[in-house]
Amino acid sequence: MKYKDLNTAFSLSAELLKSQTYHDLTKTLINMLSMLEGVEEVHSYEILARKEKRSTDPELLVRRFPMTLDDNATDKNQAMIKNVAFQCGHGTSFTTFNTDPYIVIYLTENAAPEKLLMVKGDVSEFDAEVIRGLSLIFDHQVRLFDAKERDPLTLLHNRQTLNHTLEQVIDFYRNRPAGDVQSWLVLLDIDHFKRINDTFGHLYGDEVLIHFANLMKKEFRHSDFLFRYGGEEFLAVINQTDADGILQALERFRTCVEQYPFPSGQVTVSIGCTPIQQNTAMTTMIELADEALYKSKASGRNRITVLNRSEKEASQSDVELF
Ligand code: GH3
Ligand code: MG
Ligand code: MG
Repeated sequence: MKYKDLNTAFSLSAELLKSQTYHDLTKTLINMLSMLEGVEEVHSYEILARKEKRSTDPELLVRRFPMTLDDNATDKNQAMIKNVAFQCGHGTSFTTFNTDPYIVIYLTENAAPEKLLMVKGDVSEFDAEVIRGLSLIFDHQVRLFDAKERDPLTLLHNRQTLNHTLEQVIDFYRNRPAGDVQSWLVLLDIDHFKRINDTFGHLYGDEVLIHFANLMKKEFRHSDFLFRYGGEEFLAVINQTDADGILQALERFRTCVEQYPFPSGQVTVSIGCTPIQQNTAMTTMIELADEALYKSKASGRNRITVLNRSEKEASQSDVELF
């Protein structure tokens, strides 16, 4: 191997290792692959599930990376993605689709969702080896970021990526006409959790948190974003639904928690919710959801409160007027 080649391989690896988040890492790898000679297109996806939870249709549920919230049905690579997901294993594969050469980087062994990069083009033997090497680094770094960006108890995302997720959600709606369908910021706080710890001990408490997180994963859609926000407080970004839809979804979840056989007996949850709006600061949205949650707690717990900025401003100006 020539020194120049060695230098190329090392500098690309070093560049990839510089990324500080899973999101940056993936974006950097996409950029690197796009610059290689012979590469025509690079597409990246997250495979959220092998089928929609509430349907019998064996479709894949796929989200494009960087994120879009609603293009599952329209992506031109749908058929290829299906092919890869059902035929390729973890790692790098060299293959063809409709006679076009493709390099597939597919991570199936990391924490969900599965990650898939599809590189269309014919690259040199040397670049193919570079891609193989970079995919190995990508795989290891994804594991590392999973450990950093997720809560080890529930495997939900921790707060680290919340701002970034909210920015992406806001970006998604930026150039779209305002409609009834939007995304919602939801805070969920387990009622009287301290009692559970005090009565049964911390290990039981932890067990309840795991059951609660699993219920969230099961009841909300794969395309929603779920976080463990703090101790017994969780946060959900619920996408693409209107005011009736969000109430139905939250009510279904609230009932589900109330009826679930937790190891410590009945558990209930209080919920606060606010719409995610482009012109509202993230801190304000969190404050609104928190205030809504507080109202749910203050009015007897085990209930849902939705609060939006205009309602709050209206009630504040009432106070000032009288
Ligand atoms: P409320 O209905 O007002 O929300 O009451 P609460 O008891 O749920 O709320 P409070 O904030 O008083 O207590 C939360 C408790 O959660 C206190 C803390 O020790 C416990 N906690 C926080 N993180 C963990 C954890 O990781 N595991 C366990 N077992 N307990 C935790
Ligand atoms: Mg609580
Ligand atoms: Mg709390």
